[in-house]
Amino acid sequence: MIASLPWQASSWQRVCAQIADGKMPHGILLAGPSDSGKANFAAGLGAYLLCRGHDKPCGECRQCNLVAAGTHPDLLEVTLEDAKQIRIEQIRELIHWATQTSQQGGYKVCIINPADKLNVQSANALLKVLEEPPPKTLICLVSDQPTRLLPTLRSRCQRIDLGSPSQQEAVVWLQGQMDSSADVELLLGIAGGMPLRVLNSIDEDYLKLRQELASHLVPLSEGVRSPIQVAALMAKEEVGRVLELLYQLVSDSIAFTLSGGKVIKNRDLSETIEQYSNLTSVANRYKLLDHISEAQGQLNGTSNPNGQMLLEGVFVKAG
Ligand SMILES: [Zn+2]
Repeated sequence: MIASLPWQASSWQRVCAQIADGKMPHGILLAGPSDSGKANFAAGLGAYLLCRGHDKPCGECRQCNLVAAGTHPDLLEVTLEDAKQIRIEQIRELIHWATQTSQQGGYKVCIINPADKLNVQSANALLKVLEEPPPKTLICLVSDQPTRLLPTLRSRCQRIDLGSPSQQEAVVWLQGQMDSSADVELLLGIAGGMPLRVLNSIDEDYLKLRQELASHLVPLSEGVRSPIQVAALMAKEEVGRVLELLYQLVSDSIAFTLSGGKVIKNRDLSETIEQYSNLTSVANRYKLLDHISEAQGQLNGTSNPNGQMLLEGVFVKAG
């Protein structure tokens, strides 16, 4: 766990003041973009509530050690288990856990992440817990897409919006996390300005895939390579990642055109992006972004679409 993220400092101070005043709600909804550090905040909050030390979380007391080892009996994490949804059985276990008294005599904390993956049945079961909350129990919902939560569930929680860092904050923080040879600004650009994404997702494989995907854009637009060919090649990769990268490259090419060639995040690929920008209209590229979002929605939904066909449908629109 990364100790504290500077762009969350004010939210953190507010919630600590609330705890100090004894005004901790039973339900909290942590909302914000993916990779903005919501899980980190939730983990920090859990550790804070369970710690018995002075400077919480102290990292030294028995409670902190149990949290760090992932074995604290009063900390429950509910997440996706090889499924696309959080199942009702998981919430039943949560209810059983919530109704028992705290084993260590303090708070009990449950973190549900991603909470937008609760299905209707699980969400309704969870709602009952929030309507009649057990004492000294915090249910913390974590979500990139809070609008997908049941409104009744949302209204039972205090919402904390955790935003993204400013460019400067992100650069400074990331420089402290990486060795000095890293091109922090380029990596941040590729990661959409999210420094945790740089650390979590951007490795050599990611950069190689990005290069490969970019190399198809111009041949696709010129009709030299067919969408079927490109989809067959790209379907060997993680389809969600291909779509995410394509979205970024196309967005970058739109920014490039609209700024008259000034704004570009993937600056190491500027030649390819410029060529691609000259081959397709901005309107077409916006439509392509819509198709990518739609494909992402299908991929994240419950229908289990065929990855290669999904990519074919997107690449057809890239030309
Ligand atoms: Zn402690």
